[in-house]
Amino acid sequence: MSFASLGLSDPIVRAVTERGYTIPTPIQRQAIPAVLAGGDLLAGAQTGTGKTAGFALPILHRLSTTKPLTGGRAPIRALILTPTRELAAQIEESVREYGKYLKLNSMVIFGGVGIQPQIQQLRNRVDILVATPGRLLDHAGQRTVDLSRVEVLVLDEADRMLDMGFIHDIKRVLALLPRQRQNLLFSATSSDEIRALADSLLNRPALIEVARRNAPADAVTHQVHLVDRERKRELLAHLIRENRWQQVLVFTRTKHGANRLSEQLTRGGIPSLAIHGNKSQSARTHALAEFKNGALPVLVATDIAARGLDIVDLPHVVNFELPNVPEDYVHRIGRTGRAGATGVAVSLVCIDEHKLLADIEKVIKRSLPREVEPGFEPDPRIKAEPIPNGRNRGPLPGRPVQGRNTAPVRSEPGRSSIPRSQTPSWHGSAHPHASTDRGNLRRPA
Ligand code: AMP
Repeated sequence: MSFASLGLSDPIVRAVTERGYTIPTPIQRQAIPAVLAGGDLLAGAQTGTGKTAGFALPILHRLSTTKPLTGGRAPIRALILTPTRELAAQIEESVREYGKYLKLNSMVIFGGVGIQPQIQQLRNRVDILVATPGRLLDHAGQRTVDLSRVEVLVLDEADRMLDMGFIHDIKRVLALLPRQRQNLLFSATSSDEIRALADSLLNRPALIEVARRNAPADAVTHQVHLVDRERKRELLAHLIRENRWQQVLVFTRTKHGANRLSEQLTRGGIPSLAIHGNKSQSARTHALAEFKNGALPVLVATDIAARGLDIVDLPHVVNFELPNVPEDYVHRIGRTGRAGATGVAVSLVCIDEHKLLADIEKVIKRSLPREVEPGFEPDPRIKAEPIPNGRNRGPLPGRPVQGRNTAPVRSEPGRSSIPRSQTPSWHGSAHPHASTDRGNLRRPA
């Protein structure tokens, strides 16, 4: 199966081939023909599956082979909404790269940076706009963006947008769009809110799903190191040095914890930066760029900040603290072992976290072998303490999408679709709305 055989035009195939893609990923095999066919789409897919090209390539094909529906000034024809600035920037970069042999212009807008240059750029022709909801609405309020002729809408990481409290912003954006349009909704997880959104937004969508939710990539080796609460930083530094790790993404539960750990590691001779919702956009972009180009060995991140980051072939992910929400474990280790590469996910687990570990094992349906690093044996006299901000929320019972508009989709060769009567597995668990820095990220745009 090749990109050309999916019906994409030569300039697009050439661009992805140059990017090094030869075989479409499962989500691309399913999404590309579905989007080219022009209908709505509900896709269950996580970051790392190749979903960006899954929607970007057919959108580029469609826009480059058709004219805007009405004449006049060249309109914005595709709008891609994403939850975070980093994700928006990454998607627009990909769109630009995949469309480099086409005469289409793309642009990204997000908050935390000056609005004036964006206003300038919006005066030029923009065919594809990638945006975070808050700043997009700022532009709409100032009438510096016209969305009245959008032909394709993508809601990417819709679950995370809802988690971050964007539902009202999304609805306000929807009200600015023409009624007649193609809608593509991507979400890693399902919940009542996602089902309600899909129900109100999508018209007889094709349903596709790849990679079972809660089933981490097999290419990842999991390690659990039992260690005392107060010795985690020491153990982390030891593991980094002993194993000569060059590129490690470390997760903490809180922004404060991320700052403190990164400062301590740097002071101890291991250069590190933290990214989280309280950091300025330029600080986040700088840290990510340094980490990606190999100059910075350790990036410490909170869950929301790291979500959706396209850091390819990341060899090591460390859970400095286990996430409060077991599903976030899957998101975190999704940073490693991607696109066929192998990775190691290391969790530093103290006495307080044994219940969280058991919850994670339940969600990923496997037990994780415990190890003890010599010299870091846990002190049996230390008692468990409650975890600050801990929330004990398990997955909600799932049910299939039963949207009023959700039609059964026929199985066609080359298109895997899920009949209405079956429950796609990613519908089986909701992503609980718990995150320690969620409040501050309510409007990152
Ligand atoms: P995404 O899920 O869109 O964030 O993509 C995950 C990673 O896979 C990105 O680094 C892409 O560049 C890469 N990727 C996407 N499609 C392919 C493909 N067909 N072959 C190889 N790598 C790909």
